[in-house]
Amino acid sequence: MTTTSHTILCGSCKCAVQSVPNPKAHDKVTCPRCNRSDRFDAVMRVVKEHVTHSTARALHEGMAKAVRGSKFLKLTSNGPGYRSFRWIASGYGS
Ligand SMILES: [Zn+2]
Repeated sequence: MTTTSHTILCGSCKCAVQSVPNPKAHDKVTCPRCNRSDRFDAVMRVVKEHVTHSTARALHEGMAKAVRGSKFLKLTSNGPGYRSFRWIASGYGS
């Protein structure tokens, strides 16, 4: 167990998923509540997307706060919008 690992949650019910210890690419990951299941490699791909997306959103929110009230700086983009993910990492919002 390392401090950089995050629990994988089901994107629908935010339930911690079940898998074998140290899963390999072909191992199944299953949500105990809604029985949604995927191969571990597919799950990890979505989880990484979720982390990237959440980080981008957090960055944009910080930037929006920084330029608020400034006469000279204006954010023209709304940043990444809300997305739902099939699988998510705990600790990164939704
Ligand atoms: Zn679920």
